[in-house]
Amino acid sequence: MDNKTIIVSNRLPLQLHLSDGQLKMTPSVGGLATGMESVHKDEEGLWIGWSGLVEEDLDQDTHKEIDQLVAKENCATVSLTQDDVNNFYYGLSNRTLWPLFHYFMEYTEFEIQYWESYKAVNQKFANVVLQHIEDGDQIWVHDYQLLLLPALIRQSKPNVSIGFFLHIPFPSYEIFRCFPWREELLHGVLGADLIGFHTYDYERHFLSSIKRILRLDVNFNEIDYHERIVKVDSFPMGIDYNKFHDAAKSHRKLCSEERSELQQKLDEHFESTKDTKLILSIDRLDYTKGIPNRIRAFEYFLNKYPEFKEKVRLIMLSVPSRSDVPQYQLLKKETDELVGRINGEFSTVNWTPIWYFYRSLPFDNLIDLYSSADIALITPIRDGMNLVAKEYVATRTRKDGVLILSEMAGASKEMNEAILINPNNFEQIADSIKSAIEMPLEQQISRNHLLQKRLKRYSVEKWAQEFMKSLNATKDIEKVIA
Ligand code: UDP
Repeated sequence: MDNKTIIVSNRLPLQLHLSDGQLKMTPSVGGLATGMESVHKDEEGLWIGWSGLVEEDLDQDTHKEIDQLVAKENCATVSLTQDDVNNFYYGLSNRTLWPLFHYFMEYTEFEIQYWESYKAVNQKFANVVLQHIEDGDQIWVHDYQLLLLPALIRQSKPNVSIGFFLHIPFPSYEIFRCFPWREELLHGVLGADLIGFHTYDYERHFLSSIKRILRLDVNFNEIDYHERIVKVDSFPMGIDYNKFHDAAKSHRKLCSEERSELQQKLDEHFESTKDTKLILSIDRLDYTKGIPNRIRAFEYFLNKYPEFKEKVRLIMLSVPSRSDVPQYQLLKKETDELVGRINGEFSTVNWTPIWYFYRSLPFDNLIDLYSSADIALITPIRDGMNLVAKEYVATRTRKDGVLILSEMAGASKEMNEAILINPNNFEQIADSIKSAIEMPLEQQISRNHLLQKRLKRYSVEKWAQEFMKSLNATKDIEKVIA
């Protein structure tokens, strides 16, 4: 039998729902699922992850049914209890590593029971991987929930080839050193043969922690570790360019049942205020996304350039996220209040400056929004990559439109033709909004032409292929050493 590739991530690329004892499965349409398609599609391939359902809600029969259902999609599940979800997922993953790696020290909680659970759940993942693994297989582990997994696999299977990719930033040494279990975390990820990041900066930060915390020898991007070489590299994740571009090209007007409240608002916008420019922002309601900053900067813009009142509108789609975590609830409240205050202050009979929607949208509606917006305003305080920025550019089939993008997003490293801003500099954001509104069409086209060319070439599929190619090459290094 041929060697297979095992993909491991916290969640599977499919959604399972249990209602009135009935199981329902829908495929996930996220970027990662698409990118991994080429890696996962071969018949022997396997994807291991949590189903999203907790053990307490499942009887033995349902367990079996789930296993059979996911097996048809070449997937296998890791069972988690409610306690695991609270401490490993909402705890160490989302209340410790997520804020810490995004430089939100003040939100970071260092709780020993979170850490204990993180170790135990990573072991649960390892156990499932070990049930399926055979010599010669390769494993690709994803993201910050599973940083310990590479070493746990290697302990039992020293000769398999393991890749790890971090989808969020890796912070500077000064931030990372604050983590109480920093050595263990680094040893965990060093179980891999190849460690990938979105940008060169994250890679550099990681290597600096390796040198200063573990005192290991680093030669360019190779770490000398227990008679193995661990390679570190950057692989900026792309999007399924053709999917977005083609959807925008063949975009049909949605019929009335398909049109959300938001789309009806868009109609209203185009009918009532033809000259009004539409500025779009789309993100999960997450404190890393710089949502309050964006709203305040927009207010600053309206005060600094009052001639644009009634000539511009900010449409914000905030997708609900992690609403069990207190900081997310606070952010929701702050956002509601800010939008209310600014709309109260500036609205006229014909014009409301901000339209704010707290919900998610299906793909067709997203395409509608992207295609309708003159400007995309994306202002994260920190963001590993930011795919929304890339998706907006991909949908500009006539190559018009302006992207204003935070330099704190990983995507900014590949999107120099966007207007890059510091999300804490309201003056600069206000001036950038003005420049974007006034940017001559030829300039919009020439910038988007270059951006699109790059996005098309470095698609998410290419990203996955490049990573796998590099993982395969590490086997050659091992042979040379042996
Ligand atoms: N997205 C979605 N439904 C929505 C709004 C956004 O599926 O209603 C998608 C969007 O197309 C993008 C992803 O969510 O692919 C967000 O990815 P990004 O890297 O920008 O941020 P993340 O949420 O991963 O931090």
